[in-house]
Amino acid sequence: MSDQLIHVIGGGLAGSEAAWQAAQAGTQVVLHEMRPVRGTDAHQTDRLAELVCSNSFRADDWEANAVGLLHAEMRQLGSLIMACADAHQTPAGGALAVDRDGFAQAVTEAIACHPRIRFERGEVAGLPPADWASVIVATGPLTSPALAAAIGHLTGEAELSFFDAIAPIVHAETIDMGVAWRQSRYDKTGPGGDAAAYINCPMDKAQYDAFIDALLAGPKSEFKDWEHVPYFEGCLPIEVMAARGRETLRFGPMKPVGLTNPHRPDDKPYAVVQLRQDNALGTLWNMVGFQTKLKHGAQTEIFRTIPALEKAVFARLGGLHRNTFINSPKLLDGRLRLQADPRLRFAGQITGVEGYVESAAIGLVAGRLAAAEALGAVLDPPPPTTALGALVGHITGGHLGHGAGSFQPMNINYGLLPEIAAPARLDDGRKLGKRDRGRAKKRAIADRALADLAAWARPIAAVA
Ligand SMILES: Cc1cc2nc3c(=O)[nH]c(=O)nc-3n(C[C@H](O)[C@H](O)[C@H](O)COP(=O)(O)OP(=O)(O)OC[C@H]3O[C@@H](n4cnc5c(N)ncnc54)[C@H](O)[C@@H]3O)c2cc1C
Repeated sequence: MSDQLIHVIGGGLAGSEAAWQAAQAGTQVVLHEMRPVRGTDAHQTDRLAELVCSNSFRADDWEANAVGLLHAEMRQLGSLIMACADAHQTPAGGALAVDRDGFAQAVTEAIACHPRIRFERGEVAGLPPADWASVIVATGPLTSPALAAAIGHLTGEAELSFFDAIAPIVHAETIDMGVAWRQSRYDKTGPGGDAAAYINCPMDKAQYDAFIDALLAGPKSEFKDWEHVPYFEGCLPIEVMAARGRETLRFGPMKPVGLTNPHRPDDKPYAVVQLRQDNALGTLWNMVGFQTKLKHGAQTEIFRTIPALEKAVFARLGGLHRNTFINSPKLLDGRLRLQADPRLRFAGQITGVEGYVESAAIGLVAGRLAAAEALGAVLDPPPPTTALGALVGHITGGHLGHGAGSFQPMNINYGLLPEIAAPARLDDGRKLGKRDRGRAKKRAIADRALADLAAWARPIAAVA
């Protein structure tokens, strides 16, 4: 066991995972979380690993989806975030969605009970004291201004920011199920065995056209200073998508495919609004992909034109928030350390990954790397053929710089992983069709990743 303390700043998805991994590896950890002493614009509780918007960890299919592969790798490494997510699942078709309260409570209790973690409430309002020899900064997209300014001062890089958007949540009892119906797209069965995980609200062409007109005309919140900052493509507000073309939403969150309306089986809906269960009780439902910067009054008015939502009562309306992240490819070394001050390691969304799972994943890697260093062990970053290694590689050098602002947050995707030859035939010699080849290729990438991860996943002391 090492005498060197690892300080983790920020008890979100990344910081909680980092603290857990370092403690499990045998090091002593102090976790600093500023809530509730100081809040953020989005968090509402004092719990660790609070999910500030959607309750989804996205697709859970390790064979055919890159984020599903990341789930599998994290489970292989004893991830606290994945264990608590698995224990608090809610039905969500092929996705892994969680009861946000139960999930965050489980993470908080696991951290509070760990014998090698000391949990301290309070803001780290500037650069960590010089006698903190090993620090993981995991303060997320809403890093407190004092710490963000100190980091900016140290790195000499202006912080970058853009808006992330929150989707509205509706009380289930106010949805008209005489119009809407329960079904997952293509009846896909999720981890909880439910093939009817979504509530679907159908629109005909006239309703869709009127809805698009209202979105385009509706009053939006103004953001004077930050208007020039680009949106992240994965989280575009619906009115921004609508402004790109009248059909954009019909090919995005409102696509009508894979769904049959049991109330009117012969009528193909022109567009469909989907809602996904947001809490274990099933009382709250999240409007999928409906992040928006419409003003609150306009949201209520426009969303009540959606068939089945005419009497909807909103538990939360959509909104927009700032995202802070550093220019990691320029500032960090391959082990996530700040080149200007290597005792500082970065993790989570502040490194320029995007999403709950990716943030926790970078926390996991940072925790293991920091623990190895403290224990005098040698641990390389995860292999580039793994989803974890691909993410780390992207933020620490994989991104090609194209001038200021070119580095933007990134979800895990197959494009970050090295190519692999797609099998052309089945074992019995039969030729695979194009679609089957695509699936076989993803499976080959996943098999390679999980095999290559095995050596990296060994207990850290054994690596020394
Ligand atoms: C409004 C909003 C909506 C989002 N919606 C989604 C979504 O739907 N799906 C998705 O996958 N991702 C979403 N994201 C991205 C999401 O924030 C990240 O995916 C994830 O929460 C980041 O994890 P993290 O651990 O890096 O940061 P966080 O989970 O935010 O954790 C950082 C923690 O650090 C604490 N902290 C900050 N400064 C200090 C300090 N100086 N001292 C001590 N503690 C500090 C904060 O209180 C917080 O608890 C959203 C982000 C925002 C801002």
